Amino acid sequence: MASQLTFLGAAGTVTGSKYLLEVDHTRYLIDCGLFQGEREWKERNWEPFPVEPASIDAVLLTHAHLDHTGYLPRLAQQGFAGPIYATEATCALLKILLLDAAHLHEQDAEYANRKGYSRHQPALPLYTVEDAEATLALLKPVDFHTMLELGGIRAFWFPMGHILGSAAIEIQLNSGRHILFSGDIGRYEDPIMRPPTEHSGADILLMESTYGDRLHSVTPPEQTLLEAIGYILRTHGVLLIPAFAVGRTQQVLYHIRRLQEAGRIPPLPVFVDSPMAQDVTALYCRFRDDLNMETSPGGDCEGTLPLYCYHTNFVQSVAQSKALNTREGPMIIVAGSGMCTGGRILHHLKWRLPDPANAVLFVGFQAQGTRGRLLLEGATEVTIHGETIQVRARILETSALSAHADQHDLLRWVRAIRQPPQTLYLVHGEEEPRNVLRDLIVQNLGWQVALPEYQEQVPL
Ligand SMILES: [Zn+2]
Repeated sequence: MASQLTFLGAAGTVTGSKYLLEVDHTRYLIDCGLFQGEREWKERNWEPFPVEPASIDAVLLTHAHLDHTGYLPRLAQQGFAGPIYATEATCALLKILLLDAAHLHEQDAEYANRKGYSRHQPALPLYTVEDAEATLALLKPVDFHTMLELGGIRAFWFPMGHILGSAAIEIQLNSGRHILFSGDIGRYEDPIMRPPTEHSGADILLMESTYGDRLHSVTPPEQTLLEAIGYILRTHGVLLIPAFAVGRTQQVLYHIRRLQEAGRIPPLPVFVDSPMAQDVTALYCRFRDDLNMETSPGGDCEGTLPLYCYHTNFVQSVAQSKALNTREGPMIIVAGSGMCTGGRILHHLKWRLPDPANAVLFVGFQAQGTRGRLLLEGATEVTIHGETIQVRARILETSALSAHADQHDLLRWVRAIRQPPQTLYLVHGEEEPRNVLRDLIVQNLGWQVALPEYQEQVPL
């Protein structure tokens, strides 16, 4: 059988990253992401997998985000039982993320059955906690920059500075050809993560293009934070920051700590209302040598790593979370989900949105159709848990905290590649960003650039 590559996701969209590499009767899957967002895409999670899952020999992962890993328990449930290779930090993050995802799938199915709105009777979860546990048992940690020899290929992981443990994967075929999967590319200027590793080149390059048409805000995030904190200090209100537990929460805490150390804000309590964010922040500490941060020697992480701001309180139980409702400001509450589609932030929004003394600061992308997007667009009321809630709190936003390279970073990374690839495949981007990035790369470098479609196959 000739070697070939099939695009099974993130082709014309940013979710569902999956690339099937077939080499000499051996099958590898690079990333195993869940489709998210539009219904049309999400339904693909329920379709039969294009190849027999048991026929896949191994999975190789770039990083822990669910759009790169969240389909793994479904694959295992359908018969995949091979090794899953990923960096040690990615494996550690997956133990938190996959179990949480499985819990949510179980809850969704249970809710659909209770309300009777599913087309399937009974509604089943996409996968269960048991499936997620079976998947975690297949994880095999690998080191950065160390060769892993598998049937017909050799693989290397390089740090990409996107989130903890994130990597690009280079695969060398026995034929001598090299394929590079960029994974998600981090930023060159990031206070927590190191810049992405630049690469000398490969015959075939798959590169992400999420922000191929955009530059991130140049307004420092601390300026927007200061404005939001200044507001609630004057009003004695509460600042709510909806933030994803991995990456974004740690960035928020880091910038609050910088403001504290510079004496630009007075002491005020910060509540991180997310057991998951606490576990993830502890992992950033455990893998602190991989970070771009100065840490004072010795002592525990909470004292020496600037990912913990002063006066941080991690909230564990639901009772502790509820107790915040009656607490008076000024104070800051950081909670998920980042787009206000679920999680503990919803309870805080319900309590705090009607009061103009409070503020909400959005620190991440808000997708179409989410409550976060409605609030940013100036909605005067939103529905939460079936109740209509008046919006009188002040709404602010910063786009400066992205974990993704912007157009400038993407071009910088691509320009550093000395050996032009035979073909560059742009993946992990909507149509507009990848068209813009393709045009820029063709104009500036004269490379052969392709925009693969879902299920497209290319010979290697
Ligand atoms: Zn990612």
